[in-house]
Amino acid sequence: MLDLMRPQILFPLFAPIASLKGVGPKIAPLVEKAAGPLVRDLIFTLPQAVIRRPWAKAVSAIEGQTQTLAVRIESHQPPPRAGLPYRIRAFDDTGFVSLVFFKGAGPHLLRQHPPGSDRVVSGKVERFGVETQLVHPDYILPVDRAEEIPQIEPVYPTTAGLSSRTLRKLVLEALERAPDPPEWQDAAWLAREGFVSWRQALERVHHPTSEADVLPEAPARRRLAYDELFAHQLAMAERKADRRRLAATVIPQSLAAQALQDALPFALTGAQARTLAEIRGDLASGERMSRLLQGDVGAGKTVVAMLAMADAAAAGLQSALMAPTEILARQHYETLSGPLAAQGVSALLLTGRDKGAARAQKLHALASGAATVAVGTHALFQDDVVYRKLGLTVIDEQHRFGVNDRRRLSDKAAAAHLLAMSATPIPRTLELTLYGDLDVSRLDEKPAGRKPVATRAVPMARLPEIVERLRGAISSGAQAFWICPLVAESEDSDLAAAEARAAALAQALGPDKVGLIHGRLPSAAKDDVMAAFVEGRLAVLAATTVVEVGVNAPNATIMVIEQAERFGLAQLHQLRGRVGRGERESACVLLYDAPLGKIAQARIDVLRRTDDGFLIAERDLELRGGGDPLGLRQSGFPAYRLADPAADRDMIAVAADDARLVLIRDPGLESPRGQAVLILKALFDWKPQTADLG
Ligand code: ADP
Ligand code: MG
Repeated sequence: MLDLMRPQILFPLFAPIASLKGVGPKIAPLVEKAAGPLVRDLIFTLPQAVIRRPWAKAVSAIEGQTQTLAVRIESHQPPPRAGLPYRIRAFDDTGFVSLVFFKGAGPHLLRQHPPGSDRVVSGKVERFGVETQLVHPDYILPVDRAEEIPQIEPVYPTTAGLSSRTLRKLVLEALERAPDPPEWQDAAWLAREGFVSWRQALERVHHPTSEADVLPEAPARRRLAYDELFAHQLAMAERKADRRRLAATVIPQSLAAQALQDALPFALTGAQARTLAEIRGDLASGERMSRLLQGDVGAGKTVVAMLAMADAAAAGLQSALMAPTEILARQHYETLSGPLAAQGVSALLLTGRDKGAARAQKLHALASGAATVAVGTHALFQDDVVYRKLGLTVIDEQHRFGVNDRRRLSDKAAAAHLLAMSATPIPRTLELTLYGDLDVSRLDEKPAGRKPVATRAVPMARLPEIVERLRGAISSGAQAFWICPLVAESEDSDLAAAEARAAALAQALGPDKVGLIHGRLPSAAKDDVMAAFVEGRLAVLAATTVVEVGVNAPNATIMVIEQAERFGLAQLHQLRGRVGRGERESACVLLYDAPLGKIAQARIDVLRRTDDGFLIAERDLELRGGGDPLGLRQSGFPAYRLADPAADRDMIAVAADDARLVLIRDPGLESPRGQAVLILKALFDWKPQTADLG
């Protein structure tokens, strides 16, 4: 944890929690679980709610949930037999109240609160028959310490064994160590938003005076959230600037690419032309490109990449296109090699299947430069693969690669331009959050003439009817995907459900007609089943959700999704995108367990109305009812603790702009504000998640 670059003013906050008086070896792991390992993490652990503890004038006037009142102890009543609670009877002029203990009672209670002593008590009021009682009161204090009972008490997120009150004590101790750093935000923005200083904001969030103070909209909370967003955007803006500074070979637009484009059986869509121009701008700039091409399945990303690779070839540079699976790599190779060859550009396919002499020959072709375009899987970036002059790397479905694959790639392709492609459209506002360190091109228009996929929601009770229709369809040559339910509890139960479904379908449709793929299958076996489906040897491909995205099976026209209500909208859209690629009418059947909840109904309606992945992603974000329907966490979404990327969308854009401006005006962060920004940066210490893209 020792970081010599860390500003001294932050040292107290970067001390381990064990350095706090109240944290001993027993509770340290609990605090770490609830908050984190550092003092800083405690001050960033915000209360989630408040408890009001209003004073009751008298025992007879007790009403409501939680009350504070003054009483005199009358007597102690240890449990007459096991299983009954320990009771302390207390009273005032107006009546009696019992303090009840089911556990933790003992002689110490009698010592601490002897009969006749006056106490202030606070806790949740319960009626038990005619009795009024406080079960495990939160406070029993001598009258002279009454002010220790907060009228409004913040409630902190706890874990088993660690109470909110203990955590609060520690948070307050941590808070005392928080410095009052120089202001890192723009003064005009703070004034406009009515934000107080960072130190003051911390005080306010930890000393709420009303329910409104613990809502995300509370100004002090927004201030802290903005700091977090700004620090994150700054990290990404720096990363982006660093990448840009890397020199890369200039790749001009080429006649060869134009000829290739002219020879295509279709014209580029407007969006393809625009994104290609954006890519070409980067390639010709002399700075290293780091661009993400976002577009729905079927939007035509491959062609755009191919034209960029043709430009690279014309400039005497090699390109590598990496796909997440062997079958996808092969499909790309089949798409690209012909048109490229027609322009005199030689391509080869390299996957894990290449072994021995055949592989050696391909490696030689790459090392000598005899092959100009390499298409393949992560096999393209194994240690012994050498390129003569790699100028452009394209990663298809970039989010599906593991960190190691990406790192190998960035080692090998340090000087090459990078084009990452993703078929998961995300809302523009989240784009900054996820990919703020990349330039993003949006392919938001599909080739003309695509037929919309007729989408229907059907209750599970009508399953037999759906299977019957499916039988009819496949007897006339149709192919179908069948996505098996997502049980989520365990992979085993998912798998069992999928196997049972595949078996039932095989029985209904014919034993040779149904294949099954799932996450446990080795990837070669997955490829085999997929290939059998693509080549038409199987009519139905049953799959758990862990199936390969992006595989082209143009003959598949039916998509059945079981328990569709459990999937996120974006995921349903992705799945549906696998059909409707050919000339024929396609259908998507969303099977659901009735009755549908409101949100699930709204989701399905959105899907029925539109086929625009970007729009669907926006709606998904609006409809999200907690959880993670976009699957963002999986794709490395930053773990914000103060900000909520959905609620704070407006602030993200402001933060991104401001971060960029700060760096343009003061790249070395040497000005007074720059120095303060350095402190903020260290406070959050963000590592952009796409950093491993190189
Ligand atoms: P993506 O990778 O974005 O999912 P692909 O690049 O695989 O999409 O393209 C899907 C299909 O659309 C391919 O068969 C491709 O040849 C075709 N295609 C691409 N661009 C166009 C276009 N402008 N007009 C018509 N068809 C196109
Ligand atoms: Mg694709």
